[in-house]
Amino acid sequence: MAAQEMVDHKYVYDFAEGNKDLKDLLGGKGANLAEMTNLGLPVPPGFTITTEACKAYLATGQEPDGLAGQIAAHLEALEREMGRRLGDPDDPLLVSVRSGAKFSMPGMMETVLNVGLNDRSVVGLSAQAGGNDRFAWDSYRRLIQMFGKTVCDVPGEEFEHALDEAKRAKGTTDDLGLDADDLRGLVDAYKKIFAKHTGREFPQEPREQLDLAIRAVFESWNAERAVVYRRQERIPADLGTAVNVVAMVFGNLGPDSGTGVAFTRDPSSGAQGIYGDYLANAQGEDVVAGIRNTVPLQELERIDKTSYDELLSYMARLEEHYKDLCDIEFTIERGKLWMLQTRVGKRTAAAAFVIAGQLVDEGLIDLDEALHRVNGAQLAQLMFPRFRLDHEFEPVAKGVGASPGAASGKAVFSSDRAVELAGQGESVILVRRETNPDDLNGMIAAKGILTSRGGKTSHAAVVARGMGKTCVSGADELDVNVPQRRFTVAGQTVNEGDVISVDGTTGKVYLGEVPVMPSEVVQYFEGTLDPEATDDPLVRAVHRIMTHADQRRRLAVRTNADTAEDAARARRFGAGGIGLCRTEHMFLGDRRELVERLILARTDDEREAALGTLLPLQRADFVEIFRAMDGLPVTVRLIDPPLHEFLPPLEQLAVDVAVAQERGEDVAKEEALLAAVRRMHEENPMLGLRGVRLGLVIPGLFAMQVRAITEAAVTVVREGGSACPEIMVPLVGAVQELETVRSEAEKIIAEVVGDSGVEVLIGTMIEVPRAALTAGQIAEAAEFFSFGTNDLTQMGWGFSRDDVEAAFFWRYLELGIFGISPFESIDTEGVGRLVRIAAEEGRAARPGLKLGVCGEHGGDPDSVHFFHSVGLDYVSCSPFRVPVARLEAGRAAVETAGSDSR
Ligand code: PEP
Ligand code: MG
Repeated sequence: MAAQEMVDHKYVYDFAEGNKDLKDLLGGKGANLAEMTNLGLPVPPGFTITTEACKAYLATGQEPDGLAGQIAAHLEALEREMGRRLGDPDDPLLVSVRSGAKFSMPGMMETVLNVGLNDRSVVGLSAQAGGNDRFAWDSYRRLIQMFGKTVCDVPGEEFEHALDEAKRAKGTTDDLGLDADDLRGLVDAYKKIFAKHTGREFPQEPREQLDLAIRAVFESWNAERAVVYRRQERIPADLGTAVNVVAMVFGNLGPDSGTGVAFTRDPSSGAQGIYGDYLANAQGEDVVAGIRNTVPLQELERIDKTSYDELLSYMARLEEHYKDLCDIEFTIERGKLWMLQTRVGKRTAAAAFVIAGQLVDEGLIDLDEALHRVNGAQLAQLMFPRFRLDHEFEPVAKGVGASPGAASGKAVFSSDRAVELAGQGESVILVRRETNPDDLNGMIAAKGILTSRGGKTSHAAVVARGMGKTCVSGADELDVNVPQRRFTVAGQTVNEGDVISVDGTTGKVYLGEVPVMPSEVVQYFEGTLDPEATDDPLVRAVHRIMTHADQRRRLAVRTNADTAEDAARARRFGAGGIGLCRTEHMFLGDRRELVERLILARTDDEREAALGTLLPLQRADFVEIFRAMDGLPVTVRLIDPPLHEFLPPLEQLAVDVAVAQERGEDVAKEEALLAAVRRMHEENPMLGLRGVRLGLVIPGLFAMQVRAITEAAVTVVREGGSACPEIMVPLVGAVQELETVRSEAEKIIAEVVGDSGVEVLIGTMIEVPRAALTAGQIAEAAEFFSFGTNDLTQMGWGFSRDDVEAAFFWRYLELGIFGISPFESIDTEGVGRLVRIAAEEGRAARPGLKLGVCGEHGGDPDSVHFFHSVGLDYVSCSPFRVPVARLEAGRAAVETAGSDSR
């Protein structure tokens, strides 16, 4: 039975059998080829081998049962449809074998073109092409080269070298200078190279070529560059790739043929219109590889108006069908247009917002869908600073603004050097003539990428946009000399290590470091750019989508702010309160001395005197913050870190004291301080005398803070304002701790509040696992919980917050133990489970218990979705993250509503 099922398992789909929703199974390329086929667009016939077949192959090292037979059956059908047989000596069918995973991984995996050519069918191909021998032999040498390199690991340089040799012998520098005889000779040379490296002749049997090429595509899923790319893009490692076997069409049959890439809108700015590149008399990958300079797609109208008009009509059709920006690859074979690929196109962050807004205007999508189509990571990118340009900075070159942003750094000319210098903390700009998949590590390490060749669709541009990395491509005034590690432009030479600046929005390149200024989007959030008055389409789109997110979100968004300035900025950014005001910074600077007095106090009187001096200072801090927040809730956390953090470091102090003693100076005070530091020294301070434990050990410390907070609130109310304080106790693990602090605090509050009408809530952080697990008890003594997910992660995993990221997280990420640091994005299964339990048990004990989060995760997009799903009331994050959290909270609400109605 099981064996029968395996035999029957369907591993191969004809294009007519699939559709765009089958990406898991057919990969993005296969699913969309099927969709276009079904829409009646001119797609060369073919079939797709599923990702399941790939996974089975990768698991066992051999093709699953039944696959070979299914390929044979589909190949036969293809041959019937095309009226040609694979590798037929007289009239051969040729196919391309193309990878295509669920998520696009540009250039990361393999493709083999012209499969089916051999010593005999090359003659038939020439006849098919009207006696074009040159074309036939050129196609054959391309097959041996691609097949040798990708399927059999023959070093690519050897083929390159032989090609150069042939050109040299002919006295030409251009491939087109080689005639049919030269190419025939080159095929012989290539075959020798192939035999030398593989120990066998180039396979003449077409089906063997096909099977080996399919295998190579399967295996390319695990090629190192693909693995690196997946890690960077957070694409799961176990998806596998599909393989598309497609009847070849040729863009290199002469001037009436060509190949190109098109976007239905500008993927960089989102502007409406037709964008793309066209290359006459060229085959598939030449455009993307940036090998020859392309012409703008608009030129095609002049070159071949019929195909151009046809292409435009298909593009309009696809946009309407996908209701989104599409990108397209096409080939024209002797005046006949073929659609080779489409997909919902990658775009910059700015284009994502602008296009979402346009599609709403065009009635193709609603605002909920627009909100769904943008994300917090994109918004965060739009908040990056821009270059501040005045007359001192003249660009030295201008290329294509391929991926926006502003980046300055030292010029480097190789991926390895980029990685090396970035590892030493340097900012670098990777400069290349063009990039290829081997440059991936360097691109990840660099702040920006600059190339002298290639357009918006070059490898550099596509990959940089995907990563959100600044990129200028095709700055062709640059003469890049990679071996000598320098480029020249406008008579000037830039050597490795010289600082340059690149603007990925305008495409301009500057020498030296250009200063930066806030982006338009930040100006909008700051309130200095009126979204109704500006004609900047990006600001208008951001405003519109943010407004909708605010209407839709259930989660409130607060901010973590310790100063009035931060509080005011966060309010402008849309914060609805302060979720965490850490009070410890208020003990730093010139107040350190007061804390020292507190720590060194030997009597109650001395301690009270020290606290008495701190009280008015703290009160003044809180008055300013309450004023800035003007009646919005403000959660003030009582002091949390171990007190010795306010004292000088032990080693330093010990040396200073010893030196001073040696000199015979009076060191009584320093000695006392040193004794205190020694007394308070802890092996594990993060797990030591901090948080509520401090409050219980040092009499009067928390009381002073509670008094300062309450007095500040009363002051603001008495001057006509309003204040909404929430006092938060850190590091609670047992309800008894909280009860003790609470009963003392309540007395002070009652005394200070008097008839002012001020209401003060008392709550706790939930950041110790025990607190999460006893939340039902703790809720009896707390009016609110705020999850301190930094400590909850630290104590949940047993990971020292300050040490582990540098020490070993890289290895954990490499091994896939986690896909992202749990300090960055909440570990939903473990730490998140503690949050869920505490939320449920806390609310069960005290309905209406207010729940929030104030750890770093409060501003992380994925975590915001999780906090929405567990029913928290608010997230709190740093001021610059507030817009991101607002947007993601809106998206989370829309997505939940969408899945409820499904
Ligand atoms: C936390 O632990 O998540 C938290 C917000 O507190 P802190 O980072 O100050 O320890
Ligand atoms: Mg904490």
